[in-house]
Amino acid sequence: MNRHANRPPHEIRPVTLERGIAPHAQGSVLISFGNTKVICAATIEESVPRWMKEQNKTGGWITAEYSMLPYSTLTRKQRDSSRGRVDGRGTEIQRLIGRSLRAVVDLEKLGQRTLWVDCDVLQADGGTRTAAITGASVAVELAGQWLVQQGKIKELPLKNRVAAVSVGIVNDNVLVDLDYIEDSNASVDMNVVMTDKLEFVELQGSGEENVFNSAQLEQMIAAAKGGITRLLDIQRAALA
Ligand code: UDP
Repeated sequence: MNRHANRPPHEIRPVTLERGIAPHAQGSVLISFGNTKVICAATIEESVPRWMKEQNKTGGWITAEYSMLPYSTLTRKQRDSSRGRVDGRGTEIQRLIGRSLRAVVDLEKLGQRTLWVDCDVLQADGGTRTAAITGASVAVELAGQWLVQQGKIKELPLKNRVAAVSVGIVNDNVLVDLDYIEDSNASVDMNVVMTDKLEFVELQGSGEENVFNSAQLEQMIAAAKGGITRLLDIQRAALA
């Protein structure tokens, strides 16, 4: 199977990051991984959850929400609000985004406030969670810069940046940043989240229709590192 636009197996799709897409949020971006487009917005609330106060926890909190807009998929997806609940997949993805960000945000430096990170998929073509994490890192950094500019904190509350990419095995080939067609044909599917020190935050790998061995796992990780290195360059350029 040839990749769309003859993309080489280890190459990510064209990635763009448009800043300031949601001006009322303290930090926001529209990130595209090819046809996958996600709005990531970081909003600051000057309070922390009640459980933190009750447990006398210092510092702040960060939480993420993820949803797919009704028209982001080929067939309309009902809004979570009209269905009355977030589906299992959405819950899993928003927790992954939250964990990825908590790995790099310094909650003490954030101070007693909550950073809400909203990721809304505008167009879905595979890899929405990896695009969301990569965009959310930039949105959070922009919100951190806003806090510094406003004199609310002294230094950026970020230890590192974080980025994520999908890798998979399709017809025995390791592919990076799978689109929907590739994802649906993958025998093994993995999402890799790393910091800008190229340390792992999370690996989500599963043999969907097949099993995989250690050598294939290593190949997938090496390919993912290449993709993440590229994403980190794009983040750096967008923040320069
Ligand atoms: N998808 C969809 N509707 C859904 C869930 C997924 O159309 O309710 C499509 C969408 O293109 C998505 C892809 O399937 O990007 C792969 O979904 P997956 O659950 O693997 O998450 P993702 O790759 O987006 O992080």
